[in-house]
Amino acid sequence: MSTKYEIKYKSFNDIKSNMDKYNLSPIEIILIDESKRSKLPEHKIIEKFEHILEVMKDSINQKAKDDRFHVSVDMAEKYSNRTKSFFSPLVQDIILSALSTSVNNACMHRIVSAPTGGASGVMPGVLVPIIKFYKFDDDIAIKALLIGAAIGNVIKNLATLSGAEGGCQAEIGSASAMTAGAVAYLFQGDITTVESASSIALKNMLGLTCDPVAGLVEIPCIKRNAMGALNALLAVDLSLSGIKTTIPLDEVILAMKDIGDKMDSTLKETGLGGLAATETGKKLLKNLEKSHNR
Ligand code: SF4
Repeated sequence: MSTKYEIKYKSFNDIKSNMDKYNLSPIEIILIDESKRSKLPEHKIIEKFEHILEVMKDSINQKAKDDRFHVSVDMAEKYSNRTKSFFSPLVQDIILSALSTSVNNACMHRIVSAPTGGASGVMPGVLVPIIKFYKFDDDIAIKALLIGAAIGNVIKNLATLSGAEGGCQAEIGSASAMTAGAVAYLFQGDITTVESASSIALKNMLGLTCDPVAGLVEIPCIKRNAMGALNALLAVDLSLSGIKTTIPLDEVILAMKDIGDKMDSTLKETGLGGLAATETGKKLLKNLEKSHNR
């Protein structure tokens, strides 16, 4: 199929224009583009995404028991032993899955960077429990992943996916936007709902700084993954009710870039500002340095 069409997308709007121009689905557009970029046939791309889904499923399992890390790596274990929650069992599972994957990332277990290691808990945290709960088959789950990946590509093209460049809005914000678009696709499938969900999710994350304590991807990152997951759910819930984004996704991404460019460098993964510069943050850094010098 790919040789027939002159398809390339940079923005979300490009995806929509190509859909109209060639009367193709977003998945067809994404696969044609990806096949051209990667020089892989489309069935190989699908295979890659099947593998990604398997790794995501595996990454939500708790493995972390590593006391080299100063943060309590039993965070997911604590949450799994809760006796009370405001949330439904599915949402509790989503929170636990996001925490577990993120703790696994902190402990250097295998995760999928979606779009980065720091934000790796959001997408599997939401998608894997939802796929299981609603019994979506892997075929539709792969398509949802492709949608999420395409939104990540658009953010990379128009702005950045790096906390060091754009603050945490570019990492957890992007992960949340990718996830919201993917989940909206699972339930509704139309491109307008996907765009609204993704756009709402990213708008809610604008301005988020990257200020990891002691330079480790733990504080505030792990809990923030759970927050990014819930934010994605909220955005999907709103968009499925028919609420539309007023600002198109591409423009929200450009706003994110503008905010990231204006953000002080101390708030972009340097460990010099925000939470990293608090009294406790500095103490934790000192303790960590001492333990390394022992
Ligand atoms: S605070 Fe920084 S390191 Fe942590 S998840 Fe956000 S962008 Fe990544």
